[in-house]
Amino acid sequence: MKIYLASSWKNAELVKGVKDILEAEGHEVDAFCDTSAGRFVFSFDLLPANLSEHNAITIFNFPPVNQAFNEDRKWLDWAEAVLLILPAGKSAHLEAGYAKGRGKHLVIYQEDFPNGEFDVMYGFADFITDDIDEVAEYFGQQDGAIEQECPKCGADLDYWGGKASCPNDDCSFERPMTPEELEG
Ligand SMILES: [Zn+2]
Repeated sequence: MKIYLASSWKNAELVKGVKDILEAEGHEVDAFCDTSAGRFVFSFDLLPANLSEHNAITIFNFPPVNQAFNEDRKWLDWAEAVLLILPAGKSAHLEAGYAKGRGKHLVIYQEDFPNGEFDVMYGFADFITDDIDEVAEYFGQQDGAIEQECPKCGADLDYWGGKASCPNDDCSFERPMTPEELEG
């Protein structure tokens, strides 16, 4: 499965560790902080020195900011699933919501969920856990859960939410599918 990791720069080391774990399970993983994969990696050094004079609108006058947005969006569109690794800020939460709205899997993971911190809209998640092994297991179950081809374009169908659907953006094929059919 193609997985996008949404998180905070403060978790960069954890994010790289999660990438290694999921890749070892056979998944393709994008990590925003990993320079080794040829990805454009945003760096705060690329921002203008007088940051305090810029706001949410004027910051987009700087090409690296647009480039960072376009790069992250490209990888979000590529992904079949987003893993939101907490704690994380506004960008990661926007990414998670965007992906879920595009019909992708959303999993939320934190090493330790602190008592007193919660969010009602985490209800969007398909799965939420503090166990990284369960994250890998969840993605493994979704992947390979179905080995049927789209009758319209031949792409391998994805399955979730009781539906088999084509991952090809130009193809809108989908049909209901029961868990029994999947196993059969
Ligand atoms: Zn198709």
